[in-house]
Amino acid sequence: SLKERLESIFSGLRGRGKLTEEDVQQALREIRRALLEADVNYKVVKDLVEKIRVRAVGADVLESIMPARQVSAVVYEEIARIMGEGSRGIDISPQPPTLVMMVGLQGGGKTTSSAKLAKKLSKSHKPMLVACDLRRPAAVDQLRVLAGQAGVAFFGPEASETDVVALSQRALAYAASHLIDVLVFDTAGRLAVDEEMMAELDRMKAALDPHEILLVVDAMSGQEALNVAEAFNNRLGVTGVVLSKLDGDARGGAALAVLAATGVPVKFAGVGEGLDAIEQFDPRRMAERIMGMGDMAGLVEKIKETATETDIRQMAQSFKKQRFTMDDLLAQFAQVEKMGPLDKVMEMLPGAVASKMKDLPPEALDDKRLLRMKAIIQSMTKAERRDPAIIKGSRRRRIAEGSGTTVQMVNQLLKQFEQMSELWKRFGKMGKKRSLLGGLG
Ligand code: GDP
Ligand code: MG
Repeated sequence: SLKERLESIFSGLRGRGKLTEEDVQQALREIRRALLEADVNYKVVKDLVEKIRVRAVGADVLESIMPARQVSAVVYEEIARIMGEGSRGIDISPQPPTLVMMVGLQGGGKTTSSAKLAKKLSKSHKPMLVACDLRRPAAVDQLRVLAGQAGVAFFGPEASETDVVALSQRALAYAASHLIDVLVFDTAGRLAVDEEMMAELDRMKAALDPHEILLVVDAMSGQEALNVAEAFNNRLGVTGVVLSKLDGDARGGAALAVLAATGVPVKFAGVGEGLDAIEQFDPRRMAERIMGMGDMAGLVEKIKETATETDIRQMAQSFKKQRFTMDDLLAQFAQVEKMGPLDKVMEMLPGAVASKMKDLPPEALDDKRLLRMKAIIQSMTKAERRDPAIIKGSRRRRIAEGSGTTVQMVNQLLKQFEQMSELWKRFGKMGKKRSLLGGLG
């Protein structure tokens, strides 16, 4: 990660006192390369590196005893600064109804994000989803189904209706007589920016005068995000960005590019396919993600909050010995139960660990399954817990019976144990390097 790279550049220099201009130049070259690899647009990188250079050659960094950490902090601050204040939701109009137009390329996540937002809004408002993607009949059905799942009102076209402006106006009239106070208009995208699409959106904008025009950008689209955002913003005047698919491998450099180029705030992040998988955008977390740090601060805090002294000591011990036993797995399950939903906890882990977690079967992250797993481990003898390799056929049957599960589930647990054990080794190494638990244990 960027942070690790900076540390390795500077580690050789510790104790040498001051850094030279040349040291800083080398670090800046690394920073530039790492940012480009995180999908940050080159123009943005150039700007950013210059700002960092100006700050890094300042006396405070050069004379610091921990220059690497200082430079990391500068990089982090500069990235976070571009990201802006963050956490701004939908601007609700004092005079209802609030009109929100969702725009973006095809497949970017407009329809899904529209439904997610409507569901989120439905806690405090009475939103309605309006299907204005009339290019494909399937698009209307998709939104209708999602509206049903979200439990919000839906308004769609009449048979063979093709005029989105007429449709939008009917939707407004319907809203007025049904106490609907927020309308979310899902629109048609294209595979690339094209004039026909823009002209249609333009006409809609002119007719509706919406309070928000939210551009949905696929976080995986990397460099392309910048051109797309510029095109939409120049033509329509975008008020906010929804960065979708941030749950994938995308490093999120797209967000930085969009923000730096257009100044349009990222308001929400899509973090999964489910209707609740949307979050208010958090610039701090995004900056950490781009630097490849994982939310280590958040994770450590969470562990501190929930773990008892003994838990921490035990965990620190396990990391040290780098050997993972069933008792560790059991303790971990208990820990996880205290911390909250497993998938949320996993999100806070650094990239390497998190991507390994993705290889686990999806059920592995199911909280109900946790209870069964615990029962299985509790049905093992001490010897079996210490050395799961001895758990063969007849033992598996006995454990399955004892825990009221099946041999198949026991097999799954043993498999998960192996995977976790592998993960543990990695995390242990990382923990040492970063002394994650050094401050705790
Ligand atoms: P549209 O063409 O812009 O309306 O895009 P859709 O809303 O139909 O989404 C395209 C695909 O991306 C669908 O399969 C969605 O389930 C998926 N998708 C949308 N948002 C997210 C997200 O935040 N995370 C993930 N993993 N998938 C998403
Ligand atoms: Mg769509």
